[in-house]
Amino acid sequence: MQTPALSVIKSDQPEKWQEILSDLITDPKELLANLKLDTTANPLAALAAKGLAQFPLKVPRPFAARMEPGNWADPLLRQVWPSSLEDVESDSLSLDPLQETHFNKTPGLLQKYHGRVLLTAAPHCAVHCRYCFRRHFDYAANTPGRREWSESIAYISENPDISEVILSGGDPMAAGDSYLAWLLAEVDRIPHVETIRIHSRLPIVIPQRVTTQLCSMLSELRSKSVFITHCNHAQEIDEEVQAALKAIRHAGSTLLNQAVLLKGVNDYADSLIKLSTMLFQSDVLPYYLHLPDRVTGTGHFIVNESEALKLMASVRSHLPGYLVPQLVREDPGNNSKTRLA
Ligand SMILES: *Cc1c(COP(=O)(O)O)cnc(C)c1O
Ligand code: SF4
Repeated sequence: MQTPALSVIKSDQPEKWQEILSDLITDPKELLANLKLDTTANPLAALAAKGLAQFPLKVPRPFAARMEPGNWADPLLRQVWPSSLEDVESDSLSLDPLQETHFNKTPGLLQKYHGRVLLTAAPHCAVHCRYCFRRHFDYAANTPGRREWSESIAYISENPDISEVILSGGDPMAAGDSYLAWLLAEVDRIPHVETIRIHSRLPIVIPQRVTTQLCSMLSELRSKSVFITHCNHAQEIDEEVQAALKAIRHAGSTLLNQAVLLKGVNDYADSLIKLSTMLFQSDVLPYYLHLPDRVTGTGHFIVNESEALKLMASVRSHLPGYLVPQLVREDPGNNSKTRLA
């Protein structure tokens, strides 16, 4: 009944994504020029000096191509534009609000919750999302090379309670296929690992990343695979993204989406409803809607809890239950994400 796995990818060019990844927009002026944005007309045009120095601009061209020219309020632009609001200091923001360093068991491995561990599988991302809670994370110190992974692989092997291994980052899909195949195989051969989960924004920002080779890697796993995409707005999903998502689904992965509730990007009911609907049309079910963590540099994205709860009530009244994401927040020290509502 299903169409063959790869027929949904129109032209498969295995090296294309790496070309795109090595030619990101990194100069704010170039992004402004591409989008024909007038810098005199908008207060957002002022750049964050500190924010940019600490977390440079990175925008893949296929993602920028989905932005609307001339529109400062574009929801995709807002996610990547380093506005001077990032440099506003506040006592309620911190560099490591999730206290992740406490949960670092072995190099590259975080364990916060029962039964599952998270590996920071790659040190970099294809895009720099300005709201990122890991924007201050020391990847250099936390992303081992092949040899250094042995300690973490041993930790998983010696703990039969660990049934799920999560590849995160950075973005694990920003790594090359041979490294990824190697890491997946290392994890897949541990008998008590039942599920391998991948968290990635790559299929959204550079859909060309979803190659035939990647799909075969996923379909050949012994473990069940879960692929969690990170998409915050329906406008991020064009035909190519849709084809990439369907290809992952056809490769046999359970496909879910995690979004972040962001002021000025998706903090209205209509936007969240459209996102769920568009995801479903791409074979993806909504999983979590995160309240942003209180990280230095991201204060201007924060939506307060009562506002978020009102939005969710409205979303629930418009959609079937399976299209309503769970509104969650991360509280350090809890044994799971905190469900709101
Ligand atoms: C969020 C997170 C997970 C996954 O939690 P789920 O509720 O299973 O999605 C696992 N490990 C770490 C360290 C996390 O931050
Ligand atoms: S892709 Fe994810 S980890 Fe990378 S910058 Fe964006 S939010 Fe952060």
